[in-house]
Amino acid sequence: MTIYLDHASTTALAREVFEAMLPYLSEHWGNPSSIHRSGRRARQGLDEAREAVAMLIGAKPREIVFTSGGTESDNLAISGVAWAASARGRHIITSAVEHKAVLQECALLERHGFAITYLGVDEHGLVDPEAVAAAITDRTVLVSIMAANNEVGTIQPVAEIGSVCRERRVSFHVDAVQAAPFLPIDVNDWQVDLLSLSAHKLYGPKGSGALFVRQGTPMVPLLQGGSQERQRRAGTENVAGAVGLAAAFAVTAEEPNRAGENDRLTTLRNVLLGGVTAIPGVRRTGHPRLRLPNSASVVIDGIEGGDLVAALDLEEIEASTGSACTTGSMEPSHVLLAMGIEPERARGSLRLTLGRENTPADVETTIEAVTRCVARLRAAAAAPEAKEAPAMSGAPSV
Ligand code: PLP
Repeated sequence: MTIYLDHASTTALAREVFEAMLPYLSEHWGNPSSIHRSGRRARQGLDEAREAVAMLIGAKPREIVFTSGGTESDNLAISGVAWAASARGRHIITSAVEHKAVLQECALLERHGFAITYLGVDEHGLVDPEAVAAAITDRTVLVSIMAANNEVGTIQPVAEIGSVCRERRVSFHVDAVQAAPFLPIDVNDWQVDLLSLSAHKLYGPKGSGALFVRQGTPMVPLLQGGSQERQRRAGTENVAGAVGLAAAFAVTAEEPNRAGENDRLTTLRNVLLGGVTAIPGVRRTGHPRLRLPNSASVVIDGIEGGDLVAALDLEEIEASTGSACTTGSMEPSHVLLAMGIEPERARGSLRLTLGRENTPADVETTIEAVTRCVARLRAAAAAPEAKEAPAMSGAPSV
């Protein structure tokens, strides 16, 4: 049996989510914009999904825009707000450890004349709320900081940053794609104006997500066409996808199940991290305490992360590196570099992210396999002629 330890990359569709979606892929296939009975039935499913997602994050249903996933939600939040506010100012603040869906969108805006401040982080990957406050100018229209990092699991002080932004009257976007399965989200406690979600990190379907947009936040749409989603996202709605997001979110957010599952994952994660960091030359990355309960990330001296992922795959353990793989060469992860890890070290990154099906036996097997594979790869590296061609990485920017 394969041991899947790549839940930050994606998760399997939960049975209950599949069952919630099924009617909207079979009998309730209408277009929610249609006036007739079939359309109204589909609309009902969409409305219920919207209410459920809104309720789970303390929002109003009208503040939920269904999207095709985390990437679109991030793109829409950033460019949608930037262009809507561009007459007032063209300055955006983000951090150096954001997902590429945020960083690339900011880079695109930079090419259109916006100024972007990329805040640095400390050695654990934390953004300092005071640095956010210091970077805000009277031209700043948006701050975008993720709730939890996809590579190292570090949880950011979003409520503090939210309060800085509120005080300075700057819109605040939070990418909560990785945080949603684990952290209770309340858009009012966090004082956020925009928040991105993605279903497939929550045992929901791929290609489905949502963006919370606080009422009164000016935003232009990215997609032009029909007037769906209150003119914020044109295109016939993915009703089954939205129903799947709501069902997945409800399942993972259910208390006390979530607290219990978080505790279980934290225990497993600590054993996993302890076992892997017991190997000489292996160091934890990310925050020692403020990290997602399922996330174990390390850098390993003397190996390439991609080679280790390939070696583990042969042992039927599925993991990933934190590195982007371009044209066969391993680029060290921008997140690890921003945390001050030397490029050479950052090349040896490994990310193990647990999920609800993982057991203590999986963790034991994985520690043994990582120990064995690292020893083998180091021995191969010490005898260069025997070294195999470098493997492609696991998950680039997920
Ligand atoms: N933001 C973060 C933090 C992520 O980890 C991901 C996952 O890849 C995304 C955004 C993009 O989400 P999606 O795969 O739904 O487009």
